Amino acid sequence: MLISRDDRLSFEKSSPGRRGVILPREKFSRAEPPAALRRQSPPLFPEMSELDIVRHFLNLSRKNFSVDTHFYPLGSCTMKYNPKINEWVARQEKFAGLHPLQPDGTVQGMMELLWDLEESLKSITGMDRFTLQPAAGAHGELTGIMLVRAYHESRGDAKRTKVLVPDSSHGTNPATASLVGYRVVEVKSDARGRIDLESFKSVLDDHVACLMLTNPNTLGVFDENILEIAKLVHSHGGLLYYDGANLNPLLGIARPGDMGFDVVHVNLHKTFSTPHGGGGPGSGPVGVKRHLIPFLPYPLVEKKGDRYGWAEKSKTSIGRVKAFYGNIGVILRAWAYLKVLGKEGLLRVSEGAILNANYLRLKLRDVFPVAVEGPCLHEFVLTLKHAAARGVHAGDVGKRLLDFGFHAPTVHFPLVVSEALMIEPTETESRETLDLFVEAMKRIASEIETEPEKVRNAPYTLPVRRPNDVLAARKPLLTYRDLLREKTVAAETAA
Ligand SMILES: *Cc1c(COP(=O)(O)O)cnc(C)c1O
Repeated sequence: MLISRDDRLSFEKSSPGRRGVILPREKFSRAEPPAALRRQSPPLFPEMSELDIVRHFLNLSRKNFSVDTHFYPLGSCTMKYNPKINEWVARQEKFAGLHPLQPDGTVQGMMELLWDLEESLKSITGMDRFTLQPAAGAHGELTGIMLVRAYHESRGDAKRTKVLVPDSSHGTNPATASLVGYRVVEVKSDARGRIDLESFKSVLDDHVACLMLTNPNTLGVFDENILEIAKLVHSHGGLLYYDGANLNPLLGIARPGDMGFDVVHVNLHKTFSTPHGGGGPGSGPVGVKRHLIPFLPYPLVEKKGDRYGWAEKSKTSIGRVKAFYGNIGVILRAWAYLKVLGKEGLLRVSEGAILNANYLRLKLRDVFPVAVEGPCLHEFVLTLKHAAARGVHAGDVGKRLLDFGFHAPTVHFPLVVSEALMIEPTETESRETLDLFVEAMKRIASEIETEPEKVRNAPYTLPVRRPNDVLAARKPLLTYRDLLREKTVAAETAA
């Protein structure tokens, strides 16, 4: 977060000699580092009392938005409530205290849990095996496309150089394909937001390694031609990759494995309610059909009778994509979520997500136009192109929503919709919250008509208002250093 100059000055709360903690000196033996390693001047740690520290950090946290404090209609990101029981499970000493190098015999419980999670993911998606190693959705995609490449190479099929990606796809799809060395060929969407079959057939040939698809896609619509699309790709020797980062509309309803997909990644940190955002740990397991199992990363858990062991390493494996077994803390949370909900509960998740999205869509379609007509699944996209004439852009509406206590929706994405606002309420929001959100959107719509300037300059209620989006993401100021004081001390030391 960028801090304004005024905030930066009031940030300095240090007072010489003040202490928040007193270390029990007698417990530590005195270390005497060699003179060459000793620092010449004292460290510039802030000196503060415990109470001041508590207030400082609590007040800082209150300047932030979080799922626990605000509604997050962040399309495609599935920012749902993360049940606290998941945290309790992940914190248990018997899990958290394990070491990844412990002998198998001492970690049978954890291995059973990994096996169990894999079984659940298999039955949810209709795939035959999963690796739990990838640490994020994009990492899962990378792993998945490497599996696709390994499959074609193993068959001596060297002519495949292209990966097909619809124009509505998540940005990570084309990025992944080119990172693995493929040429990305865009597939056009039709007016209904589905793949345009004619345009698709015109780019489909024997050079296609795979088609990467999200279904329902980022417009929240399901492509009902999927079986035909899968047949066409397979008849040309290509594979189908399913971007299942967001599985929220499908649980217990439909499975990518039944639609003809060969490789799937899912984001445990979206659909399966483990916290995400801010670049924290995630988990993007990758599932494959039988013909791709030999290429999966290792290690894989195997059940032998009532014991768990590691499957023999396949000679054709693409190797490890991460150290050890993946982000276990995230995996544990997802496992707990699945155990609590069970099959019935998961179906209710998806039904609730679809109901909430359609409720909002119908309430908002008279406020801002919806990008594609008809019912949606878990999310939908509004367009603000009419407001652009008044100088108001999708991002401005996102900023104004902050003033009303709502996190911004995803803005300016998907790229096929101009001035897009992509809204995904998720199943965990109450009707009352959704109604309040509709009220805020209505108010902003009328402001766009009567006082567009007000929307353009929002937000007004937050300490940080309009940071440079690019610099805030690429060069965030994450450490506190009082440069002024450091200079003074340096000068004094020199003098
Ligand atoms: C979030 C998302 C991704 C990327 O997942 P990360 O964990 O952020 O890398 C890929 N595709 C879709 C459709 C997504 O929503």
